[in-house]
Amino acid sequence: MSPPSLIETHPNLSESSAPVALSYELFPPRSPAAAESLWNTIRELETTDPDYVSVTYGASGSNRDTAVELINRLLLETTLRPLAHLTCVGNTPQELAEIIGDLLDTGVRGILALRGDRPQDGTPPVPGSLRYAQDLIELIRRVEQRRSALLCAGKIAVGVAAYPTRHPESPSEEHDVEVLLAKQRSGADFAITQVFFHTDQYADLLSRARRAGVTIPIIPGIMPFTSPRRVKRLGELSGVEPDPQLLARLAAADTDAERHRIGVRATVDLAKAALDAGAQGIHLYTFNEHQSALEVLDKLALPRHSRSAGRRTAILQRQLAS
Ligand code: FAD
Repeated sequence: MSPPSLIETHPNLSESSAPVALSYELFPPRSPAAAESLWNTIRELETTDPDYVSVTYGASGSNRDTAVELINRLLLETTLRPLAHLTCVGNTPQELAEIIGDLLDTGVRGILALRGDRPQDGTPPVPGSLRYAQDLIELIRRVEQRRSALLCAGKIAVGVAAYPTRHPESPSEEHDVEVLLAKQRSGADFAITQVFFHTDQYADLLSRARRAGVTIPIIPGIMPFTSPRRVKRLGELSGVEPDPQLLARLAAADTDAERHRIGVRATVDLAKAALDAGAQGIHLYTFNEHQSALEVLDKLALPRHSRSAGRRTAILQRQLAS
């Protein structure tokens, strides 16, 4: 048996409390007006110095060009690091390998590997398409391996989806955790969760995943609960049932301002509970709006890394000068 390494005998050499990661989700704009509003949001979010911003990808690949354009602009015109979502659905493996190569060429170093939702109109999958997110992770790792000499200053971080409540097609929550473990074994570095509404749902997922051997960070995806319409819509799209008590409290508010305050408070409580349960970061679903996300962030007062203050000042100075 070899003697223990220095790191093994000095556990305190690694930081005991790492800073909490902050990230936002954006989606590619669908019109010039939406693009203008999105860029206003991006400038506001940039001042908070997030660790990365994720850019969604239409499962059919329909918004591929606008997604790539947004990612390129983020890289060229901002200090933000993009995490590109990519889906198996709607693309052949050859097309996916090309897209991964193109993303790497533009400077992307983070990809969220997803299966994507199957079309609701029953359109059959593209023949030969990848079946599961796990297959996409393996494809990303293969493309990465071929380009390893180009990636000496930073390999690809591969993220995956995780589910605090059962995925609609899955037989059980246990199966979801087995799938998460399989994705980790295929090379996933981290996971971001689907939306959830109850404080115990994230803590339960974390403890089930850790017991099963999942060691990667599982970052809670937090949606600002300020719009009842959006909460209901996302519940329908994701198959996650919104909390009826939260909906009732939002509906009972006398004014929009009161509704907004209730929504922000409930979001902050959920995020705080996730942090208390051991979350290593917070991923805010922005819906391309900054106001609610920034209010939630302000009330959360996350322990961030120390470069934040200096970088924030530099970003603000650059924005004022332009
Ligand atoms: P998978 O992990 O492949 O799982 C899909 C289903 O197959 C599950 O029921 C799982 O249990 C089952 N399964 C997986 N592997 C196996 C296996 N080996 N054997 C048997 N069963 C298996 N969708 C988009 O279209 N675009 C986006 O940008 C997007 N972003 C998202 C971001 C986040 C953070 C999350 C949580 C979801 C996102 N989605 C997005 C939605 C996602 O595509 C759907 O939830 C989709 O239905 C499942 O994707 P997945 O990557 O979890 O798939």
